[in-house]
Amino acid sequence: MTTTLTTLRPRPQVCRACGVRHEPSPAAVCEQCLGPLDPVLDPGRRLPTAGEIAARAPSLWRYREWLPFDGEPTLSLDTGWTPLVAAPRLAARLGVARAWVKNDAVSHPTLSFKDRVVATAINAAAAFGLDTIGCASTGNLANAVAAQAARAGLAAWIFVPDDLETGKIVGTAVYGARLVRVRGHYDDVNRLCAQVADQFGWGIVNVNLRGYYGEGSKTLAFEIAEQLEWRLPTAVVAPMAGGSLVTKLRKGFREFVEAGLVSGAPPRIYGTQADGCAPIVRLVREGADAIVPVVPKTIARSIAIGNPADGLFAKRAILESGGWAAAVPDDSIVAGIQLLAEETGIFTETAGGVTVAGALALAGEGRFLPEDEVVLCITGNGLKTVEAVAPVLAAAPVIAPRLAEVCALVEGP
Ligand SMILES: *Cc1c(COP(=O)(O)O)cnc(C)c1O
Ligand SMILES: [Zn+2]
Repeated sequence: MTTTLTTLRPRPQVCRACGVRHEPSPAAVCEQCLGPLDPVLDPGRRLPTAGEIAARAPSLWRYREWLPFDGEPTLSLDTGWTPLVAAPRLAARLGVARAWVKNDAVSHPTLSFKDRVVATAINAAAAFGLDTIGCASTGNLANAVAAQAARAGLAAWIFVPDDLETGKIVGTAVYGARLVRVRGHYDDVNRLCAQVADQFGWGIVNVNLRGYYGEGSKTLAFEIAEQLEWRLPTAVVAPMAGGSLVTKLRKGFREFVEAGLVSGAPPRIYGTQADGCAPIVRLVREGADAIVPVVPKTIARSIAIGNPADGLFAKRAILESGGWAAAVPDDSIVAGIQLLAEETGIFTETAGGVTVAGALALAGEGRFLPEDEVVLCITGNGLKTVEAVAPVLAAAPVIAPRLAEVCALVEGP
């Protein structure tokens, strides 16, 4: 087994359910009670000032004191720090004072927010001496694991449902990863990966490395706060799959308030899903206490998780923050993709369409105030799911290379 030379040490983890402390290891579940494990930061660590952070390299590692390691990261050093784009026309449509798009559609290296969670998980894998990583994925995580493993010289085994979009398949296979298409839904793939992790001792980033993986999502919150010049928005809208992202957004904003880097109340968190796979939205809107798993049926495949691991935690984070949740039908998702493109110049995949359409639905229900400052999390790139939007776009005319034909088009029928 080759071990990557590293001075990085993953932090210990604590069980979210029973509080038992676990020494750092590639495990995500408490052996006492089966609760999820969360890395604990050193409460005595020295925190940087806003000025010190601002002077650091533009990557998610500028917030390393809030990431689950001691020492220096060695891998995926250039992920993070995506643009926060002002979107005044979206603000007008939402009936709020200001709006921004947090644009992880241009995340490095694989154009989705999953680059963040893999950046933290792969450093944990290397520190644990693992030479093979993998994932159960709805597409974007597959891309991120394949790319970052290739660059790090680690082997990658990637398991996906067999019906994924071509862009997600090609964008994984190109890196030389071992890609396996499993007949079934994401939940079947995820169950298989839990067995694979046990059998082979690999680092499955969202299974046995899940604690270290999830913390990477907090950097989306940290960047939003810093890019607003150390202020907080009043509301944040994000799509939900397993429910980890919204949970960690809440955690990230609260950690920056506790650190005194920003003041005021943490933003209200709004979670969005597709109608055809909305188990977390149902928890929030119906006040239920247990996930009712669903069989996904939506074009938003990247967030089609019918039995979300962090569903109950996501519900709690949303309600504690004062937020809410909304589900939207597939035709609204496509319209959301088009609207974002036309209003901001950003082409997002189906999950981003869920964010935009969900935000409009929430605005229609009166969930936002006229003075609100809203950030829309756009988590993936539209070039990966062209088949979702291609059918509704106007076909381009084909002409002979003659000016008269252009004139005819310009003048119209
Ligand atoms: C994975 C994913 C999400 C949300 O993931 P969680 O499992 O809820 O953390 C959102 N958008 C895109 C594009 C994703 O790939
Ligand atoms: Zn426990």
